[in-house]
Amino acid sequence: MLRTCAILGAVLLVPALFLAIKDGDATYAIAMSAAYASILVLSFLPVLPSFPARASIVAVLFIAGACLAARPSSLFAGAAWLCAASSIASILLSFGWGLAVIAAQVVAMAAIGAARRAAGGLPAGEALGFALSTITAATACTLACFAETQLSKGMRRSMSARDKLAKELFDRQDALLREAAGRHDAERRADFLESHDSLTRLRNRENFELELAKAIEVAAGRGRILGVMAIGIDRFKRVAEIHGPGAGDALLIEAANRLMRSFRDDDLVAREGGDVFLVLLSDMKVPEDAKAVIEKSRRAFDRSFSVNGSEIGLSASFGLALFPNDGIRPDALIRASGVALHLAKEDGPGSYRLYDASLHERLLAKGLIEQQMRGALRSGAFLPWYQPKVDSLGRIVGAEALARWLLPEGDFRQPADFIQEAERSGSICDLGRMVLAKACASAAAWARNGLEPIPVSVNLSPFQFRSDDIVRDVRSILGATSLPASRLDLEITESGIMDEGADAIEKLAELKALGCSITIDDFGTGYSSFAALRDFPVDCVKLPQSFVEPLPSDPRASAIASAVIDLAHVLRFSVVAEGVETRDQFAWLDAARCDQYQGFLFAKPMPERAFESALAKGLDEAIEC
Ligand code: C2E
Ligand code: MG
Ligand code: MG
Repeated sequence: MLRTCAILGAVLLVPALFLAIKDGDATYAIAMSAAYASILVLSFLPVLPSFPARASIVAVLFIAGACLAARPSSLFAGAAWLCAASSIASILLSFGWGLAVIAAQVVAMAAIGAARRAAGGLPAGEALGFALSTITAATACTLACFAETQLSKGMRRSMSARDKLAKELFDRQDALLREAAGRHDAERRADFLESHDSLTRLRNRENFELELAKAIEVAAGRGRILGVMAIGIDRFKRVAEIHGPGAGDALLIEAANRLMRSFRDDDLVAREGGDVFLVLLSDMKVPEDAKAVIEKSRRAFDRSFSVNGSEIGLSASFGLALFPNDGIRPDALIRASGVALHLAKEDGPGSYRLYDASLHERLLAKGLIEQQMRGALRSGAFLPWYQPKVDSLGRIVGAEALARWLLPEGDFRQPADFIQEAERSGSICDLGRMVLAKACASAAAWARNGLEPIPVSVNLSPFQFRSDDIVRDVRSILGATSLPASRLDLEITESGIMDEGADAIEKLAELKALGCSITIDDFGTGYSSFAALRDFPVDCVKLPQSFVEPLPSDPRASAIASAVIDLAHVLRFSVVAEGVETRDQFAWLDAARCDQYQGFLFAKPMPERAFESALAKGLDEAIEC
């Protein structure tokens, strides 16, 4: 409103100014212009400036009013501007300043009246009226100032209440917006986690299954094939354990990234769980395409992985199932690829298998064996049979304990039917411990019962040898059975020792420190270097049946066998020939200076009772009766 009045006044001023300039009335023109200019400034400034600025506006108005009032022709205009000055002072400055301006206004009017009276321009009768008008104007101005002050206070209060409310609303709105954004983020995160694996950021198994269902629909509609590949990192657990905390996760993340890069954008890579990944190979032309895909995925593991400052070489095994041959439902295809992967892993690191239903049946049979094995371990159904080791005169000088699984019907299962499965399922340590304990107890009993105190050899699986508990187990079994450690021989395969890496020597030394002897089983079939063998704290090596069987007619086999025997002797190992079946083999081995012999020529593995009898009577007699 102030702005409208100011603009209107300024516009109306134009003709008055024009007349004033025309009449040469500069005072009027300047005073009116200054007064309107200050009002315009006031109305157009959004924020009132500092105190001196506000005070200057009041001063300009006051001076303009006083100048106008000093001229009889513009007395009323001047009085009005003076009143305006006091009002504006009370609004812009304070009520006190308003009163001060009114006082100055009274003084100015009194001075003007006195001056006009002295100049004779104000008769005595009008002077009284002039004084009364001045006082009335001052009173009216005071009331106006008071009212304005109250009004502006009220306005300020309501403005500050409004500002407060506006601020509160703004804050609330801001908080709501932030909360909404947070919720949106959380929802997005939850959506992501629902369909992705939180570690590798790949799709998870559930999402893979959904996508596979869609792909199957498309492939079925177009009469196409598609593949589901399961990729498992070989020996992942062991590698992760060796390289310390966090290494496993870092390896999985890096493997996931590499696999992502290896496949086309329309092939979906997901993490099934653990160290197993799934790849959906959409749009395969022919099943043979699978080989190229497997090669491609293999390359993802070509380069070593650097984790915790060390370079780790990894390999992976692959299992592939095809739609529609191996299944038409997502879960069936995923399961089939898992079965193929499982069997590939059994073939050794870096292998691959295409799914085959008969393989699945084999796997189910294995599962059954695993279940039965757990029961057999609980009931102690594994026991050792003993196969004699003889010297060149045919005398029993030792025995190898060979595990047999006693079935409820009284039959026995051979190691070929369960050792591998026990190793795969992790039962081998329990099984091995059971055989070791029974064999040590028997050997201790033979001597106690007056039989020849011969040593007993017990086979240790590579898994058992690798276990941290092996030294403790052997020590406690020796203690519990009171078998002197010198009468226990532990047979470990060459590969079992080599797989243990640098720890092998230390572990072998610890076992030897208990007092037992160590034999390398199936010597020469592994991949140890002669230099490494020299460092192993070993007492004896066994010449495997595969070396003995072609003897003596095969000249190459004879050359290998005699080289192995000589090498073992150079390294100060004694030699036991295994699988000796014929007299010719025995004669040849005897001539080659083998130390001991084991094989069907002398005796097959036998139950404990039969072996005790052989030990008591000698082999020939025991076999004859
Ligand atoms: P191994 O330790 O090399 O045992 C020798 C195997 O050759 C035994 O088979 C034995 O019966 C067989 N054998 C001995 N002489 C002859 C022969 O003249 N001709 C033929 N054809 N075979 C002969 P078995 O008892 O079936 O054991 C097979 C393998 O199972 C063992 O090979 C050993 O690696 C493993 N094994 C047996 N018992 C245990 C055990 O308690 N723990 C572990 N970890 N492995 C065991
Ligand atoms: Mg053996
Ligand atoms: Mg052997």
